[in-house]
Formats: sequence, C-alpha cells, structure tokens
Amino acid sequence: MHPLRSLILAAAGNDVIRRLVATAPVSRDVVRRFVAGETTADAIEVTKSLVDKGLTVTLDYLGEDTTDTGLAEQTVQAYLELLDGLHRDGLAKSAEVSVKLSAVGQALDEGLALENAARICAKAQECGTTVTLDMEDHTTTDSTLRVLAELRATYPWAGAVLQAYLRRTEDDCARLATDGSRVRLCKGAYAEPATVAFPDTHDVDRSYVRCANTLLRGDGYPMFATHDPRLVEIVHARAEALDRKPGSFEFQMLYGIRPDEQLRLAGLGHTVRVYVPYGVQWYGYLMRRLAERPANTAFFLRALVSRK
Ligand SMILES: Cc1cc2nc3c(=O)[nH]c(=O)nc-3n(C[C@H](O)[C@H](O)[C@H](O)COP(=O)(O)OP(=O)(O)OC[C@H]3O[C@@H](n4cnc5c(N)ncnc54)[C@H](O)[C@@H]3O)c2cc1C
Repeated sequence: MHPLRSLILAAAGNDVIRRLVATAPVSRDVVRRFVAGETTADAIEVTKSLVDKGLTVTLDYLGEDTTDTGLAEQTVQAYLELLDGLHRDGLAKSAEVSVKLSAVGQALDEGLALENAARICAKAQECGTTVTLDMEDHTTTDSTLRVLAELRATYPWAGAVLQAYLRRTEDDCARLATDGSRVRLCKGAYAEPATVAFPDTHDVDRSYVRCANTLLRGDGYPMFATHDPRLVEIVHARAEALDRKPGSFEFQMLYGIRPDEQLRLAGLGHTVRVYVPYGVQWYGYLMRRLAERPANTAFFLRALVSRK
C-alpha cells in the first residue's frame, strides 16, 4: 500500500486527529465537497441540486460495522425518514438509497440485517424508489448475496454491488446478470489479501472490463461505478458494440469527484447516478476518499492551513 495511503488510513483511526479535523473551522467546507451534510434536510437539499442538473442520486447514511442493535435501529429510522422526505419532495423517481448491511446489524446476526434491509425496501417500494446493498470486505460477500437473494424474492429491483478486485467476481457477475437484476460494478475499496483479490491494479482493471462485458451481455441493469477515464471509455465502447442503449445501463460516481465528467456523460444522454453520503459519521468516509488520491489530500491540507 502507498505510504501516504497507510498514513491517512491510520489517521482515520486516531481519536486526537479525528477531533482536530472535526473541529477545525475550515473542515466544514472541505467535508462539504464530499459529504452532503449531517442531516436529512442537508441530504435532500444536495439531491435537489443534483437532480436539477440532470443527474440521478443514490444516498448513503454514513455508518458501518454496528454491533449495537440500538445503532442499527437508528440507521433504519434515518433511511425511513429520508425515503419519506424524497417522496414528499417529488425526488423519489430520481433518487434511491444505498445501504451497508453492517450498519443494520449484519455482524450481530444476518437475520436481523435481512429484517432491517427488508423494512427499508418496503418503504422504498411505498415511495416509488429502489435500494442497492453496498458491498463491504470479502468476509461479508456471501452473506450479502444471500440477503440480496432473499430481498429479491419480494423486491426484484433490489440491487447489489460487485467488486472487480475479487477473483470470484466474474462468476458472480454471470450469476447476477439476469432479467431485472441491478448490479453496481466497482473496483473495490477494502484492503484485501491476495488469496481473494488481485493485488495488481492492472489486473483489477482487466477484471473490471471482463465483468463489464458479462454484465452488458446479460439481461440485467448494470451500473458502472468508476471515475477511471479509461474504464468509462471502454464501457461506453462495449455498450455501443453490444447495442446497449443509454437507459439500459448507467454510470455512477461519488459526490464531489469528477463533477464535470458526470455532467458530460449526462449530456450524452446517459443516466449518471451520484453517490451522496451524509450523516454525522463522515470522518471515516472522508479519510478513505483522501487516501485514494494524493491530490485530494493536498487540497484538504491546504484548506486546513489556509486562513481564508
Ligand atoms: C457510486 C460508487 C459506489 C461505490 N460503492 C462501493 C461499494 O459498495 N463497495 C466498495 O468496495 N467500493 C465502492 N466504491 C468505491 C470503489 O470500489 C473505488 O474504491 C473507488 O471508486 C475508486 O476507484 P475508481 O474506479 O474510481 O478508480 P481509481 O483507480 O481510484 O482511479 C482511476 C482513475 O480515475 C481518475 N480519478 C479518480 N479519482 C479522481 C478524482 N478525485 N479526481 C479526478 N480524477 C479521478 C484518475 O484518472 C485515476 O487515475 C464505490 C464507488 C462509486 C463511484
């Protein structure tokens, strides 16, 4: 792992640094570049502004790895309130939600996570939108796909994420590329052992292309989550070659990352979905984004030392 990346990820777990960053006056502006804010109202306001620009949205209430049933319940309530808000403001057609099963009790009991995810799906259906299950580290992949299968029996639109860095993912793509199946393909964001994941980034990219081909050839609805210009171009070309029309697949990017590219793709007639995180637990998410790209860190450090 790059030394800067390790350093930032170590800072992510350090309480002194966490307090320093959270209370620094400029943090608010820097955080706001990547995170919609802390409240449901903040999330809805950012959603409105993106939808007004012709983009679609998936919202993530920040938090993960809950081993406390009270916190899991709090997360469910946050999603229910958000979905009601999206419906009330006429945004449910353009905005869905992304849920981490670890935030709704997966580490405590898979059955509890399923029950909680099903409550969020029921509300999403009532409001006229959808849910995508985020994918976390490889020890949770089988459990998450089992929960997905259960959810899809009642909510066939429930989506999942597959990570191209995992050696198993090409097979998972083939299994999930069925009628109506919504699959987000990303590179993968966790530190994984070489026994289960490709350590070389070129192999990850090659896997991404193979998986993209499988999804585009199948009958499902693929969602290509990447900021990588080469992969965006390849997906675009493969979709054309396979006669996949805009609207039969989509591109996804994170809030605050390559916003001009998001608008360019939308201008070409593609559905572009922006992943918008919000909530009080923004610190870990922000640190992961900074660790991914040194330029983001430089921007953040400059802002921290700047008086303006
Ligand atoms: C919508 C969405 C949902 C996701 N959900 C999950 C999930 O459920 N589970 C999971 O493990 N991971 C998830 N991820 C994260 C993902 O796995 C990657 O860690 C993350 O997207 C970085 O990979 P990348 O494909 O963008 O390419 P990278 O390899 O990070 O970057 C490739 C190239 O993209 C360009 N680029 C990247 N960042 C920037 C930037 N800030 N500014 C300008 N250019 C840039 C650069 O040219 C760079 O060389 C998600 C990502 C997205 C976009």
